[in-house]
Amino acid sequence: MADPEVSLYDTTLRDGTQGEGIFLSVDDKLKITRLLDRLGVHYVEGGWPGSNPKDAEYFRRVRELDLEQIRVAAFGSTCRVGSQAQEDANIRALLEAETPVVTVVGKSSALHVRDVLRTTPEENLRIIRESVAYLKEKPGFSEKTRFLREVIYDAEHFFDGHKADPRYAMATLQAAVEGGADVLVLCDTNGGSMGWEIEAIVQNVLAAFPGVSLGIHAHNDNGLAAANSLAAVRAGATHVQGTVNGYGERCGNADLCTLIPNLELKMGVAVLPAGRLSLITRVARTVAAIANQPLHRQAAYVGRSAFAHKGGIHVAAMRRNSWSYQHIDPALVGNQSRVLISELAGRGNLLSKAEEMGIAHREIENLPEVLQTIKRLEHQGFTFEGAEASVELLLHRSRPAYHPPFEMLDFMVVVEHREGRGIFAEASIKVRVGDQVFHTAAGGNGPVNALDAALRKALAAVYPHLAHLNLADYKVHILDSDHGTAATTRVLVDMQNETRRWSTMGASTNIIEASWIALADAVEYGLSIAVGPGGKASCSPAASEGAQSGGGFVEARIVTLPGDGIGTEVVAEGVKVLQAVADRYGHRFTFEEALIGGCAMDATGSPLPEVTLEACQRADAVLLGAVGGPRWSDPTAPVRPEQGLLGLRWGLGLYANLRPVCLYPALLDASPLRPERLEGVDLVVVRELTGGIYFGPRQEATADDETAYDTMIYTASEVRRIAHTAFRLAQQRRGKVTSVDKANVLAASRLWRRVVTEVAAEYPAVTLETILVDAAAMHLLRRPADFDVIVTANMFGDILTDEASMLAGSMGMLPSASLGEGRNGVYEPIHGSAPDIAGHGIANPLATILSAAMLLRHSLELEDEAQAVEDAVEAVLAEGYRTKDIREEGTTLVGTREMGRLIAERIGRKMTNDQ
Ligand code: NAD
Repeated sequence: MADPEVSLYDTTLRDGTQGEGIFLSVDDKLKITRLLDRLGVHYVEGGWPGSNPKDAEYFRRVRELDLEQIRVAAFGSTCRVGSQAQEDANIRALLEAETPVVTVVGKSSALHVRDVLRTTPEENLRIIRESVAYLKEKPGFSEKTRFLREVIYDAEHFFDGHKADPRYAMATLQAAVEGGADVLVLCDTNGGSMGWEIEAIVQNVLAAFPGVSLGIHAHNDNGLAAANSLAAVRAGATHVQGTVNGYGERCGNADLCTLIPNLELKMGVAVLPAGRLSLITRVARTVAAIANQPLHRQAAYVGRSAFAHKGGIHVAAMRRNSWSYQHIDPALVGNQSRVLISELAGRGNLLSKAEEMGIAHREIENLPEVLQTIKRLEHQGFTFEGAEASVELLLHRSRPAYHPPFEMLDFMVVVEHREGRGIFAEASIKVRVGDQVFHTAAGGNGPVNALDAALRKALAAVYPHLAHLNLADYKVHILDSDHGTAATTRVLVDMQNETRRWSTMGASTNIIEASWIALADAVEYGLSIAVGPGGKASCSPAASEGAQSGGGFVEARIVTLPGDGIGTEVVAEGVKVLQAVADRYGHRFTFEEALIGGCAMDATGSPLPEVTLEACQRADAVLLGAVGGPRWSDPTAPVRPEQGLLGLRWGLGLYANLRPVCLYPALLDASPLRPERLEGVDLVVVRELTGGIYFGPRQEATADDETAYDTMIYTASEVRRIAHTAFRLAQQRRGKVTSVDKANVLAASRLWRRVVTEVAAEYPAVTLETILVDAAAMHLLRRPADFDVIVTANMFGDILTDEASMLAGSMGMLPSASLGEGRNGVYEPIHGSAPDIAGHGIANPLATILSAAMLLRHSLELEDEAQAVEDAVEAVLAEGYRTKDIREEGTTLVGTREMGRLIAERIGRKMTNDQ
């Protein structure tokens, strides 16, 4: 990397931990070091090795990290008054840390020398000079540090010292320069200086020490630390110190998350490697999570409210031009615009919210009514801006296609106090799920706890994944407290599953009713909208409040199996897009390529070499192209490329193949079906993958015996597990399963139908339809929008999804995910190796790119990233770019690589409201 114009020095691990309430373990410090390295910060100050064993352990363990570029600094003070540097225990500890950088702090203010050190001005100059000189010259314990050690001198209280006695303050810097310091850092230790004072003093110092590297270390006691640091840079400082989120003693230190975007975006000073600035929001939030601190909502650039718009007029203006109320594009810093819903909201707020949630405008039938409901409820005491899941539910409930997972009929709560037993609460509730009514009772340590227990008891049998929903927070706020016990109570509930957290709210003059509304909404949201890992198959899932990607950066090993024909061309684009995701979000994906199919047969004789299967078993996920082609299609050959695929699915225990068919508005005309037939098409085919006719006993015809057969075998357990996959998915979608079989002819199909019907009884909220495969082929064209989840046997799924691909416009548009019990999965386009177009650079890579999005969602649990890929595909199609298979008049023809590049660039690029 070229030398930066200004280098960044992070002191979160030392100054940050001096902040009230901040505690970091060694593991925490190591995690933060990696985050800062990934962000592109140049130095991290690990701590004071002489001060405690924890810091000493950090310096030992940080050497084992595989860091890209960050230089680790050990911090300590000059040797003590009257002592020699070489004998000083603190200086020795600094050297024992074996870091490439040592930062040593000394006094610059005459007041401190006299009253705190209680020594003479000359002695202070001596200890500064000799400490720096000793550290600069003394060989480290390893060859590596001997030649590289950089010594940074922190001039404590420099600005105050300079204001009181400029000659002496300058003399202390002179002592550090004579000692050989590489950088002089001027500290505003008490954090009380003003920007113009900082600027003038930095200019003075530079005039006195021309050519020296000057740094700034500002504290925030007057709220100006970041501004003062920028003032120092304007005056010529080239080294800036600060902490993530401004953590530090008293009012904290200069906040790097404010400083860095200002340096880059406002002052045009390049500090981070290209493309890393967009990681800063994630770094701020991850460090806050590690430090167990809520990130200040209003934090500049990185706070959740930094680009949140509430006023109806503002939102209306933003919808016309996203620059109207924003100073930068939030995507530049990895943040995003949000629209808040409140009584101040207008139609635009709600439309924007619906867009954020992936709900099409046409699906919301009564927008004005939803808006009125929000305003009425806000008047009653609700505040929707803190409970976005409640808003999302209101919007979903206005869609004709939405079916709530349960309906609350009655509840009763009794609270009693008995002598010797204390307070006890019991709740009984009646809820309807589909056609069934459940009436349950449960006890608890309070009324809300009892209601929660009773609701869970009622729904547990129908919704087993309810067990994964946990109540994370419950807050009660009394609104008009002057009304005494008749005051309105507002309850905010936070619920979470493995990957998401969402907030709902209720308000009432009755605290139990307010709690019930918030609780029931949180559960409804959890069951119907927030979907856990492995559950989501739609191409455009709804966004949710607090949807997160596991927090922090993910390291993943992805095996790529390009295979044959266009497989190699499309997988290269999938990798390009995954790499763009890694760059934008700060993840580290390593790609290992292996052989499968015809090319593997040529190289090793086997379509699935053992090393390939082993690599896939070790991987976090597998991205596959396609196998086969005319070269290997001799019907008499004993081995065929497709056996590689079957062996892979078998070897990884993948039994469910999810094939979502969702239509991009821009491609409606690419389908051979009339656009009105395609209205509302959003289906998933769940294809059984490891049983059926592809795996049953077979006999090839021979020259002597021209009889051949294949056998379709299914066991009840194979059908049961795939049926559960389909019903669980339907619960999270529109609540309908269509089971496709050939029960009028095939025995295996009759078993299939019986078992699917049995499983259906366990999901009363889901409707089951059974149809024959020949009829299904017809209905897919006649009424495609009627299907939600189609579950079917291996071969039928294979055929029907090729047909369904035509709804989407091309085989080149349909992705798939093959999943088993674990996280690992195989992600591949549904198409084959297309030998007719292989090598021409014209194959459509979008099915593979959308498969990569499924990989991010299902195997790596990176929902935001998956969504970003799907959004990028939609945006590039909307801009009119097309590969040959989906080309129409008036669009721009691009090749495979160009299409991949456009998507990758789009992911790296800003997303604004109107895009
Ligand atoms: P195919 O899917 O390869 O091609 C069918 C048609 O769709 C061809 O006209 C092809 O040009 C077109 N097409 C497919 N993918 C496209 C894309 N991304 N962009 C543009 N056009 C695309 O099916 P096929 O021709 O029946 O089979 C070819 C070979 O692929 C055979 O050897 C077959 O066994 C194999 N195959 C492999 C898989 C797999 O690896 N999962 C699946 C199906 C077929």
